[in-house]
This record gives sequence, structure tokens and C-alpha cells, in this order.
Amino acid sequence: MDIAAHALWAGAGAIWARRHRQLDRRSAWLLVGMALAPDLVQLLPLLAWSVAGEGRLPMLLAYSLAAPGEVLPLPPWVQALTHHLHCVMHSALVAGAVTAVLALWLRRLWIPLLGWWSHVLIDVLTHSAEFFPSPVFYPLTYWGFDGLAWNTPWVMVPNYLLLGLTWWWVLRRR
Ligand SMILES: [Zn+2]
Repeated sequence: MDIAAHALWAGAGAIWARRHRQLDRRSAWLLVGMALAPDLVQLLPLLAWSVAGEGRLPMLLAYSLAAPGEVLPLPPWVQALTHHLHCVMHSALVAGAVTAVLALWLRRLWIPLLGWWSHVLIDVLTHSAEFFPSPVFYPLTYWGFDGLAWNTPWVMVPNYLLLGLTWWWVLRRR
């Protein structure tokens, strides 16, 4: 799903949780940040290459909008790092391991991680076999569920209508 929709869904969830379970303000912002992180972390190698290397910032946009199979003129290290960071951040196995380690350490669930989980689960359903299937079981396999691609109008329009309704409901009942 697009990054704005990820933030809006997580934001609505955070507001709802703040009302019902006294989620503190800091955790609410962290939760939204964790929902954005999977699509931002992978851009860091591109950003480093643009700032300190020969890369150009418009390449960030080109990368974000690239179609499946489109080959961008990136150095191999940038290509490999962005690819693996994308997979790490979209894997339920990695998110599960981080959740378990933090839960053992803190002796409770670290709530902001739910933002990350929301991103992983939404992307599994909103990417198709032809449109960057989400590598939910990385590093075991690159296989991804053949869901409905989020960039098609019949997913995007209902999604934003539903978001509008959800935000109206959340803010109205505040
Ligand atoms: Zn994503």
C-alpha cells in the first residue's frame, strides 16, 4: 500500500487505542513511525549514495515509482542493500523475532511494534504476484501472497473512502 495510507491507517488505530487503552502520546507517534519505517528504511542506501556518492536525489523518486522489472542504473551495493532492507522490513518472520526479543527483554509487548505489523499485514494483501509480492517469509523464501495490487483504482478508491469514514468516526467519537 502507499505510504500515506499506511500512516493514515496506523494514525487512526493509534487515536482509537489512545482513547481505549490509554496509549501515551509518545507511543502513538512511535507506532505511526513504525508503520512508515518499512518503506523508508530501504531508501537509506539510495539517500547515502545521493548525498555522498554519485547518485542524484531524483533517483529516490524513480526508485519509489519503478514498475516491476524496471532496471535502474544503481551501483550493485545500493541495489543489494535496498533490496534486502525492503525484504527485512516486510518479513513477518523478522518482525516476529524482533517482537519476541523485545517482549522477553521488556516483559511485555512493545506496543509501537503494532505499527510495523500493520504495514507487514496490509502489504501482504495489497501486493500481487505481478506487482512486487511482499516477501512475508524472508529470509526463508521470496514467495509472496498473490493479493490485490494497491495501485489499481478498484483498491485505491475504496481504501481511501474507507480511510475517510474511519477518520470521521474516530474524530467524531473523540
Ligand atoms: Zn511496504
